[in-house]
Amino acid sequence: MTENTELLYMLDSYLFAENAKVVSTSEHEDGRQIVILNRTIFYPQGGGQRFDTGTISSAAANFTVEEVRFVDGQVLHIGKFDKGTLSPGDEVALQIDQSRRILHSKLQSAGHLIDMAMRHVGYESLVPAKGAHYPEWSEVEYEGVIPPEEIESAAQKIQADLNKMIDQGYQVKIEMSSKEEAEIKCYILPPHMPDNKPIRIVAVWDDLYMPCGGTHVRNVTELKGLKITRVKSKKGMTKISYVFE
Ligand SMILES: [Zn+2]
Repeated sequence: MTENTELLYMLDSYLFAENAKVVSTSEHEDGRQIVILNRTIFYPQGGGQRFDTGTISSAAANFTVEEVRFVDGQVLHIGKFDKGTLSPGDEVALQIDQSRRILHSKLQSAGHLIDMAMRHVGYESLVPAKGAHYPEWSEVEYEGVIPPEEIESAAQKIQADLNKMIDQGYQVKIEMSSKEEAEIKCYILPPHMPDNKPIRIVAVWDDLYMPCGGTHVRNVTELKGLKITRVKSKKGMTKISYVFE
């Protein structure tokens, strides 16, 4: 029975450095090394958000984290030893690439804020489907269409509403809730939610929560520079692309 990695990034998106203990090291099938820790600040790939990079180091060793994956409750830090090796029980210092994390948190939070803008400008009947929050590809997708003649004005209205929210600001709220509580507080829920473990819910505006395991900014004012680049509606789906300028 393996111990689950404690996920510190779930509690604080701004924790860029922390200490941990090595649980195990092993070789990855691609020849790189895997380090497993008792707890981590490294975000593993998932939920449309890219993994963190950084370093794991002790007095005698330095490990560069190139990729992070989540497998069966454990976070796999995949990379290379630049110096020394690590053994189970070793105390290590973790450091993530701060600017990379902040950009990911902004892209992740922007997806939620676009959901809010969609509601504000009259497209609340479009159902949020999935999102990609990658630096080179950021887009949120909805079930439902915007008529072709409305596309241009929709893009302008969404942008204007985003600008207004970003100017005004909102303290992002993140809570661990029970399934029952999530059902009351969330404006959208996935079809299957676990009964037996707390659900992390996030609101970027107006106490409207949705379940999310990603990292987020502290305040919506940090999303300055968010720009809608395209609104595309076809085959029953609407896609909204965005960037940070
Ligand atoms: Zn999120």
